[in-house]
Amino acid sequence: MINSNTRVISLIGYPARHSLSPVIHNYLLQKTRKNAVYLVFEFKPGEFKQAFNGLKKLGFIGLNVTMPYKEKVYQQCTYLDKTSKLTKSVNTVKFKGNKEINGYNTDVYGFLKSLEDKNFKFDNKNCLIIGAGGAARSVVYGLLSKKVTNIYLYNRTVKNAENLKNYFINSGRGNIKIIKDFKKLSEKDIELIVNCTPIGMNLEDSLKKSVPVPVSWNLKNKYIFEMVYEPIKTRFLQKAESESAKVICGLDMLVNQAVYSFKIWFDMEEVPQTRDIREKIKKILMENENEFR
Ligand code: NAP
Repeated sequence: MINSNTRVISLIGYPARHSLSPVIHNYLLQKTRKNAVYLVFEFKPGEFKQAFNGLKKLGFIGLNVTMPYKEKVYQQCTYLDKTSKLTKSVNTVKFKGNKEINGYNTDVYGFLKSLEDKNFKFDNKNCLIIGAGGAARSVVYGLLSKKVTNIYLYNRTVKNAENLKNYFINSGRGNIKIIKDFKKLSEKDIELIVNCTPIGMNLEDSLKKSVPVPVSWNLKNKYIFEMVYEPIKTRFLQKAESESAKVICGLDMLVNQAVYSFKIWFDMEEVPQTRDIREKIKKILMENENEFR
């Protein structure tokens, strides 16, 4: 029951209203009987400073942070975990009093855990990442930390791929190769492909009908990681399944990064179980999908 002792956790971003994080976290709050609520606060970039200072003063437990504030919040933190420090990206904040702002990045954990759950082994692997935005940055960092053999990076705007590559090279982390044209790469040489773009998303018909790799590629026996979770089964995942690839869907990553944030806010020893939450979110996504059709 909400009362005068109820504390608040919030998601901040712009836009942020579409997020499924409130469903995940309010479910977990109820299940673990915490006297707290999870709300969404959407504000424009020009209002960031004022809004962030307000949240800090009002005694919130913490925050989730989404686009475009992950780097801005990184700059405000008084403590950063290793992953947020190296990715310069904070998606989880825990306030301690109104002075200490602890920043974490749980996207990398969510990505790696989703792969490990499907028994992916990182040794001697060649990986192709498509995209060079925020999600790709976490993915590249995660794979570098696991010391995979090669990371091939493909992005619509080559300059952005180069910037991402240089960002990691400047911090002493290498083996990233930019791919400007898929014709220069054979799918036979790749064991993992990660889509970090909105290709496949329900946003518009042309995106929804596209796949991020050449349709002629055979994906048999590869690991295919899809970041998009609306729809749950994108064209890319459909192609992958029909060609006997091992698939990991965006829903897995969404849930895994969320439960790790929850563990941080409440100093839990273990990360909460994900099976029931995953089923709950899957149901909502399937209902949304029927509405989109
Ligand atoms: P972002 O920072 O805006 O980056 C978007 C990336 O996608 C850029 O590399 C961009 O290329 C590329 N792109 C955008 N539209 C494209 C198009 N029509 N065709 C080809 N490439 C396109 O976004 P992000 O945060 O990295 O997110 C990327 C995707 O991952 C989104 O769909 C997001 O919803 C999803 N995501 C899912 C999870 C999860 O938990 N499952 C977590 C994070 C993100 P340019 O550089 O050329 O603009």
